[in-house]
Amino acid sequence: MKKTLSLLALCVVLALATGAAVAEPSDGGLDYLALVNKLNPLPEGWEDALETVHITNSLGRDVEIEQRAYDAYVALAADLEENDGIHLELDSARRSIAEQQDIMDRFIAKYGADYAAKTVATPGFSEHHTGLALDLYFRLDGKDVYHNEDMMQYPEIWEKIHAKLADYGFILRYLEGKEHITGYGYEPWHIRYVDSVEIAREIMSQPGMTLEVWLGAVNDPGLTVDYGASELYGEAELEEAAVQVKCKFASFDGCELRALRYAGDEANSAENVKWLNDLDEGKNYVQVVEFLSDFHTTAAYSGVLEPDSEYADYQWWLARAEGGGWQLVSWGY
Ligand SMILES: [Zn+2]
Repeated sequence: MKKTLSLLALCVVLALATGAAVAEPSDGGLDYLALVNKLNPLPEGWEDALETVHITNSLGRDVEIEQRAYDAYVALAADLEENDGIHLELDSARRSIAEQQDIMDRFIAKYGADYAAKTVATPGFSEHHTGLALDLYFRLDGKDVYHNEDMMQYPEIWEKIHAKLADYGFILRYLEGKEHITGYGYEPWHIRYVDSVEIAREIMSQPGMTLEVWLGAVNDPGLTVDYGASELYGEAELEEAAVQVKCKFASFDGCELRALRYAGDEANSAENVKWLNDLDEGKNYVQVVEFLSDFHTTAAYSGVLEPDSEYADYQWWLARAEGGGWQLVSWGY
């Protein structure tokens, strides 16, 4: 994806990338930049377009993986084996929506709905559905190191693995300190195939860069956000909130964001804090921000809004707990 694409083209690409539209890029294949996270579901039609291979890992388990991602993984593993003495293995890659639903059902039966909702990714909203997300482990001195706690003991091995990801079109997906953007804590083993060495290098060369922010940045060639004059929040804090709004907006099929502005400190009222806590039980939010946006829907838009229309002062509400990052909780009028 080149940053010289027109705003409209970017918007369409991103609408495809973020799941609101049917996954039909021009070559009829997969969109390897699709964003699937807790806010953005697997694009429609993905499972029909997906071509996978099956392998058996060193634990004797079947692993299913998208075929191009698999070829890249084989090359990455060969490089690491040859040049770094690291023997990579694949723990899991693709999980279908049906498999995720099975896991969810088992957790609900065993632990109840609340616990299941907190622990298991909602079916449809896991990057593993794409077949492009890989959970790695490695063999060390003839032993498999695959429990999360054990793998965390080898930062020097992960450092070597991460250093080579971009050369094969992979990125590290869940970075340290970015849980408020990705929705997940640090996972050195979870990598994502993006099918472009150039894009992977661009993302991996910027410390702390997440796919969410990178896609939001691409979607945003001209837009300047008006952060107003806040006495509560610094601009960096508001930027973190705005990024999440832009990422979510990118899933509005065929819409063009014209303006985004901070609504003012008065939105952080006790009443609004309570309202967002009621919407999102158990999060213990203590602060709230509101953003307002103006945007245009194209004639091709289909969804809950009207096609080919202007929208003004559309609201975005985010909240955060003590010491936590912003969570997008509600949007609309
Ligand atoms: Zn994973």
